[in-house]
Amino acid sequence: MCKDCFEEQYYSFPSQTEFEKFEEVLDLKCRLGKIKILESKNEVENELIDFIMCYKCETCEEKFIMSIPDNAWRGYFLTELNAIEYHQKIKESDKKRQKVCLFIFVLIIVLTIYGITK
Ligand SMILES: [Zn+2]
Repeated sequence: MCKDCFEEQYYSFPSQTEFEKFEEVLDLKCRLGKIKILESKNEVENELIDFIMCYKCETCEEKFIMSIPDNAWRGYFLTELNAIEYHQKIKESDKKRQKVCLFIFVLIIVLTIYGITK
């Protein structure tokens, strides 16, 4: 990260306005040739994240990944490594949530059966 790209990262954009402000700066840097757009792709792995863009700083060669905010999902703009880490964290917390849901579901069934047979 350097002065030609970005000195801070965003783990989420607090509001749409904040995101638009950031996008303007990013767009300007792209047009000035400081940042190159590598690719954009659809991420189907996690239903929360459906559209990401990859960028590279021409000065320090740092790669960035941007996820576009969509409703409840607040997006992010992170270096490639941090983005991968962030994805893994989200996936893990998703798995935990699924386990808790499954546990509650089983508990309800058990209680229902218990209630019927009693
Ligand atoms: Zn840079």
